Amino acid sequence: MRLSAYFLPILKETPAEAQIASHRLMLRAGMVRQASAGIYSWLPMGFKVLQKIGQVVREEQNAAGAQEMLMPTIQSADLWRQSGRYDGYGKEMLRIKDRHDREMLYGPTNEEQITEIFRSSVRSYKDLPRMLYHIQWKFRDEVRPRFGVMRGREFLMKDAYSFDVDYEGAKRAYNKMFVAYLRTFDRLGLKAIPMAADTGPIGGDMSHEFIILAETGESQVFCHKGWMDLGISGIEVDYQGDLQPVVDKFTSLYAATDEKHVPAECPVPAADLIETRGIEVGHIFYFASKYSEPLKAEVQMPDGATAPVHMGSYGIGVSRLVGGIIEASHDEAGIIWPESVAPFKVGLVNLKAGDAECTRVCDDLYAKLNAAGIEVLYDDRDERPGPKLAGMDLIGLPWQLVVGPRGLQNGLVEIKHRRTGEKHELSIDSALSKLI
Ligand code: ATP
Ligand code: MG
Ligand code: MG
Ligand code: MG
Repeated sequence: MRLSAYFLPILKETPAEAQIASHRLMLRAGMVRQASAGIYSWLPMGFKVLQKIGQVVREEQNAAGAQEMLMPTIQSADLWRQSGRYDGYGKEMLRIKDRHDREMLYGPTNEEQITEIFRSSVRSYKDLPRMLYHIQWKFRDEVRPRFGVMRGREFLMKDAYSFDVDYEGAKRAYNKMFVAYLRTFDRLGLKAIPMAADTGPIGGDMSHEFIILAETGESQVFCHKGWMDLGISGIEVDYQGDLQPVVDKFTSLYAATDEKHVPAECPVPAADLIETRGIEVGHIFYFASKYSEPLKAEVQMPDGATAPVHMGSYGIGVSRLVGGIIEASHDEAGIIWPESVAPFKVGLVNLKAGDAECTRVCDDLYAKLNAAGIEVLYDDRDERPGPKLAGMDLIGLPWQLVVGPRGLQNGLVEIKHRRTGEKHELSIDSALSKLI
């Protein structure tokens, strides 16, 4: 992509309304524009990142055996009356009437809808287990939408749902999602810590919030310092096998939000306890027959009797993650994208667009990188070097390839790694082979 032709409205000024780094940087880097409170348009570069995060989420859901589908954003109030949640959900639910005065709503989540789909198509235990998911916009009329896409009113969520004949099956599904979440967040360059969450009247230990540590987070969290050295990468995962040992490994170290943390009962000595703030990026939940019972999602069991299915639901805040990743990965100069979700891998900078040799070398590098399938943002504009380099730092592409007349006299270009700041002068060919 040539920057001269790209819609990337970079802001020079820091927007006054943005209180935290990710919000400021997303506005400055031309990723999003607020449409109204908590509702955003995603501009091309922001949308690209959103889609890449969605794709990582998708790949890991698929690997865990969940199947992708798509449910609508607008739902009928009837189903929510059947589940008993229509009145209880309160003002966070955006209620709408259609022209026939039928009560509709913009879905804040999809338990009712998926349960309805399931009950109308599945009759027998032989059709279980199943895991379904979609990546779809949700609406919650948050009292205080803030921090940009982090707490929006309209936001993109991956929500998965599992259906099983019994608790044991549901536990297997839960474990699959637990592990899939660890892998997903790891691929996104995040350390997301599963923290036991409230299960409400159902009880048990089958609800976890996945929380990334950040000073700007809205939850107060407590965890054992050993978490800093614990990660899923390198751990072999077989979704057909028993995942309990992996889940045990990642639940053995203490981690709790302030809702669950009781200082007097905390098993971790003060010296080993980290107290900080965190951002909820995912939440998994086993809720037994909470919806299948009132909505009559029942199957025939081997003994001929019918029973409501055991369900769980599993959410990831895809749009929140865009902000979350930036909170976890930025510096004074701007964003630092992990390669897995970077909008482009390389920023190619022509320091002197009027110079024939610089332009020839840049055009050639651009063509070769494109041919190799590398995503490149090519700053071919006739602009001063300072703002060009600052712009590249701001948008945070993993690699910068800088071509100027001085280096070219010796046949050299500069390659800079955004995360470490390391710079090397290399021949054109060795620069290319570092990137391809
Ligand atoms: P929060 O505690 O932040 O209000 P929640 O517990 O209400 O979130 P869930 O119902 O568990 O959210 O939804 C699943 C995921 O959707 C959350 O873990 C979060 O990542 C994301 N999410 C929830 N509300 C929002 C929002 N207003 N804006 C962006 N993402 C959100
Ligand atoms: Mg909420
Ligand atoms: Mg929450
Ligand atoms: Mg939650």
